[in-house]
Amino acid sequence: MSPVAAPRSTTAAPIAPFFGPDYGALVRTDPQIAGVLLDELERQRGTLQLVASENPTSPAVLAALGSVLSNKYAEGYPGRRYYGGCAQVDEAERLAIERARALFGAEHANVQPHTGAAANLAVYAALLTPGDRVLAMALQHGGHLTHGAQGNFSGTWFDTVGYPVGEQTELIDYDKVREAARTHRPKLIICGATSYSRLIDYAAFRSIADEVGAYLLVDAAHFAGLVAGRAIPSPVPYADVVTFTTHKTLRGPRGGAILCRAELASAIDRAVFPFAQGGPLMHAVAAKAVAFAEAAQPEFRAYAAQIVANARALAAALAREGMRPVSGGTDTHLAVLDLRGAAGGGVRTAAGAKVTGREAELRCERAGIMINRSCVPYDSAKPMVTSGLRVGTATVTTQGMREPEMQRIAALIGRAVRDADGAGAPAVQKDVAELVREFPLYG
Ligand SMILES: *Cc1c(COP(=O)(O)O)cnc(C)c1O
Repeated sequence: MSPVAAPRSTTAAPIAPFFGPDYGALVRTDPQIAGVLLDELERQRGTLQLVASENPTSPAVLAALGSVLSNKYAEGYPGRRYYGGCAQVDEAERLAIERARALFGAEHANVQPHTGAAANLAVYAALLTPGDRVLAMALQHGGHLTHGAQGNFSGTWFDTVGYPVGEQTELIDYDKVREAARTHRPKLIICGATSYSRLIDYAAFRSIADEVGAYLLVDAAHFAGLVAGRAIPSPVPYADVVTFTTHKTLRGPRGGAILCRAELASAIDRAVFPFAQGGPLMHAVAAKAVAFAEAAQPEFRAYAAQIVANARALAAALAREGMRPVSGGTDTHLAVLDLRGAAGGGVRTAAGAKVTGREAELRCERAGIMINRSCVPYDSAKPMVTSGLRVGTATVTTQGMREPEMQRIAALIGRAVRDADGAGAPAVQKDVAELVREFPLYG
């Protein structure tokens, strides 16, 4: 990590929308943190963001986040608080709830979870007791930490069983999921993952859950924005509960939310507060309301469709660079690339060496391309090393890039990944800077 430089600017005016109402006050009070904020803005603007779980929010969302609502305690729910003075924040939370319900067509919404992981914790708490069995996608095949990882509450307090993807297809094998459900009789089945690029057959999961009498949780953390933008089908009609983050494709503030059927509403609400959380982050709740309103606009539909078109174009272009898209491609905002390629091909440096996921991630970062390594299904490499990369197109699409830019990005990634000794990094970095200058973030 590079050391934090002194702030480059002490004038609040040009950057105020991104740093709350008085950046000048921060510069005077805490120049070190003021410098971090400025450096981070510069990093986000000056490099290429392909981390699939990130998306830069609008200035309107940032304004709500950097607001006096952070000052307010509001344990409880609108109209039922444990503190006085909640009329204003009640209004913010009511708007967030109504907008979330309308956006997703859900009977009930809870907008208080601090994060996606907190939303999942609350769902486990509402539906299960410790020791109960949960069936979810295996972590090495794309599942999330909260779907049964050792070291996480899910793997510690619950008996979690993972379902794999097919070895040949790299797709969810619904017969295998049904078989696992019959064998293990889970009380909760989870679908929706972290590194799975394809559509999920929710009707199939519903039928499996019904057969064994399990609840169905769809964890839409990654793709909720694509659902909101009608670019992919909605899980809401099929699931008992849907959790999602508001900061990934949905492009809102960092946070979580839960949708459920009316009969589970009070169990879910009690599991969020008072079971899992104390006071809600009302500035984040207000910012979620802003993001839900933004996602209901017609432009957001065009945005969501373009995210998917861009992901398909990027995956295809990366395949031409020797990186094999897992499952052959993508239906969503992300793609997982197997650097080993197909049939002994794959990415090789000029000297003919293979490239691991970790090496590829570091080489890209060196060249100004932010990306993360990823396990591929049935990966032979260790989890800290991996054989793959995961790319997402939410941020670059927010910047206005389209299919032609995906070709340029794939070429830049290819050059960076093959550059073993770093000799070519400055040249790639220069081309990255040129590309992002054409599509300025917070321009
Ligand atoms: C990102 C993610 C989460 C958790 O979100 P945090 O806000 O990081 O806690 C949960 N589930 C899935 C599938 C995710 O991808």
